[in-house]
Amino acid sequence: MRFSKCFIPTTKEAPSDAVLPSHKLLVQAGFISQVGSGIYNFLPLGKIVLEKIRKVVKEELDKAGCQEVQLGFVTPGELWKESGRFVKYGKELLRLKDRKDNEFVLSPTAEEMMVDMVRNRVKSYKQLPLHLYQINTKFRDEARPRFGLLRGREFLMEDGYSFHDSFEDLDREFNLMEETYSKIFTRLGLDFRVVDADSGAIGGTGSKEFMVLAQNGEDDIIICDGCDYAANIEVASRAKRVPPYEEKPEMTPGDFYTPDVKTIEALAEFFMIEPYYLMKAVAKKALFEDGSSKVVIYFLRGDDQLEETKALNAVDALELIDISEDELKELGVTPGFIGPEVKNVEVIIDIDLKDDDTLICGANKEDYHFVGYSLKDKFQDRFYDIAEVSENDKCKECGGKLSRTKGIEVGHIFKLGDRYSAPMQAHFLDQNGKAKPFIMGTYGIGVSRLEAVIIEQSHDEKGCIWTKESAPFMLDIIVSNPKNEDELKFADKIYNELISMNKEVIIDDRKERFGFKIKDFELIGFPYALIVGKSLKEGKVELVDRKTLEKLVLDKDEVIEKLKERI
Ligand code: ATP
Ligand code: MG
Repeated sequence: MRFSKCFIPTTKEAPSDAVLPSHKLLVQAGFISQVGSGIYNFLPLGKIVLEKIRKVVKEELDKAGCQEVQLGFVTPGELWKESGRFVKYGKELLRLKDRKDNEFVLSPTAEEMMVDMVRNRVKSYKQLPLHLYQINTKFRDEARPRFGLLRGREFLMEDGYSFHDSFEDLDREFNLMEETYSKIFTRLGLDFRVVDADSGAIGGTGSKEFMVLAQNGEDDIIICDGCDYAANIEVASRAKRVPPYEEKPEMTPGDFYTPDVKTIEALAEFFMIEPYYLMKAVAKKALFEDGSSKVVIYFLRGDDQLEETKALNAVDALELIDISEDELKELGVTPGFIGPEVKNVEVIIDIDLKDDDTLICGANKEDYHFVGYSLKDKFQDRFYDIAEVSENDKCKECGGKLSRTKGIEVGHIFKLGDRYSAPMQAHFLDQNGKAKPFIMGTYGIGVSRLEAVIIEQSHDEKGCIWTKESAPFMLDIIVSNPKNEDELKFADKIYNELISMNKEVIIDDRKERFGFKIKDFELIGFPYALIVGKSLKEGKVELVDRKTLEKLVLDKDEVIEKLKERI
């Protein structure tokens, strides 16, 4: 490719709403341009990178026995009604009507379409397992599209769906996909972790996310320093906590007058005790799928925090909202003095409190707490893991130190079971001739998100630094002064030779100042630049490594040899 003929509109100006380096740099270096909220065009360089990522994804999936298909982006609403998601998917689903008033949706994911493709075509267990995938446009009307390609509304995703005759076979495929996705992200040069994830509202029996470690990530993850335990904060669990005092504090059970002592801090001070021994009550209103709601009071140790997703899952709700003190009082609850034996509401207690008998909690009457409360043999089915894991907690696998870090989700693998096949009547005949719904898995990679993630993890103040498998071109041959015949001729010769070897090379033959061209090289982030300049007279050229910015002087005769090793 000749730079002089390429459409690479680099610019000094960063988009005004850009806060993340990847967003700024991809726009400035001429990879993408925004056309609407969460909608981006890919310019030639952006498209080359997208295709390279796609190629890595496809190669590894095909090697693992998956087959590529392509589904329609505009999907009949009927299919979404069959699975029940037409309404349930909520506002992220863009619904539209054609001229005959038929309903459609823009595909945000494709379980329904894929089940429809397979049902009545795969009829017997002998045709299983089957894994079909596509790499196709998705649309999600995100509430807050931002960070450029990281959270778009229209984006490119690899979405795979596997069909099995048993859960054991699904487990096998799930493990194979964990391995395959790991290969893909490793090839792309990413520093990532596979973490336990929430299976959420879709149900299912297991799910893992692939998180690229990045300061600017939107997800919080917990990792163990001692073993390879890693989990999204939404599901991370911990070892049972160790009490702060060696000896149990003495408590004679009974009500204690605690006038106006309503907060955990005030209570800890009042009793001069660590908040570990206090039971905190967090009241929420849970909203359910069928439109109903109820008040739930969650109990935790005074120094623990309620984890929202865990709290939701404990009661199988869609959403938790705050509740006012007046609403609680109407139910006969006394805010500030709530204990687990409270009436008229649902009670959920954190698992770390199970069997504890040295607690101080609300006495469910104004101005009183109960001291020496015991949970032994009480509330047996009310214990759930609902606390947010913190850096003071220990790993449940190895006792090691847990730490909290930020990640960007690049992939997600999920055991679905018959969540879609059962309602959509997608059946096969098993070995005994009995009709059964397919057991399914679903898998996804954010292909366009990856273009930004690579730069989020690999850039400096000068610009992008592409990794080998993602670089738009591996080498930028910069002709320092294109008016100089010798320089141009030599550069052209090297260029043609490398092209004939199928190397990914661009030649910057533009009639611009050298400083301008080297700045573009640094901003765009090709892994190497070969500078053909004045020293060619002495038979020398310079090779610049974009990552380290180190320069290596080469004899003009050894250029090809030296480049072959690197690109
Ligand atoms: P997130 O929690 O980031 O919204 P998700 O859980 O909704 O992601 P999935 O439904 O599992 O995502 O989709 C599979 C992959 O698609 C994700 O791992 C992510 O890489 C990518 N992805 C999801 N939403 C977007 C988006 N709005 N823009 C770009 N990529 C996305
Ligand atoms: Mg999402």
